[in-house]
Amino acid sequence: MQVIEKGGANPDLVVVGSVHGDEPSGKKAVERLQNKYHKFQKPVKFIVANEKALSQGTRYVDKDLNSSFPGDPKSDEHEERLAHKISKHVEGKTVLDLHSTRSTDKPFANIKDLSQESKNLVRSTGVENSTCFEEESGVLIEMGSPGVLVETGPQGTEQAAEKSLNILENFLACEGYIDRDATEAIQTSSDTLKQFMATGSSRPPTTAK
Ligand SMILES: [Zn+2]
Repeated sequence: MQVIEKGGANPDLVVVGSVHGDEPSGKKAVERLQNKYHKFQKPVKFIVANEKALSQGTRYVDKDLNSSFPGDPKSDEHEERLAHKISKHVEGKTVLDLHSTRSTDKPFANIKDLSQESKNLVRSTGVENSTCFEEESGVLIEMGSPGVLVETGPQGTEQAAEKSLNILENFLACEGYIDRDATEAIQTSSDTLKQFMATGSSRPPTTAK
């Protein structure tokens, strides 16, 4: 498990990727977001969940992590112990859980109740379709208050990785964690710098604001 904290202590939101080891898109989206955004408006935590299964290229090591919550720290099974560790990070927090799927290439969201809070999370993902499964099944989003799972695209594809990043950006921007305009500003200034280097001018161009 890899834990990345941004924007300060005590985050209200935890973003989790690669709960399933055969879904590298979650890990990639978390990593690409870190490369793209360096400033966060509010504290947020990112977790790359099942690194052991990822490194083995398998869905899980001993059992499905997304039916193991809240987990058991004394279990012989890797995913039971991991679920317990992740539970400690997400208790009382909002959870965004990024997955990819074999069933459809259309992104969809999954929530555990029809509260306004849960519906708002779906809206922040920007995903059009959603389902609600209210029965307890040991999934991660049951630990969130509230939580949303998003199936972002076909398992193991670049499409799923890019869509995961896109959904993650949508979500963080809607919920006020990142400022998308700030990224554009960084982009513009690096373009200006490239122009400056290309022209060989001895002075950097003044930036019009
Ligand atoms: Zn999954």
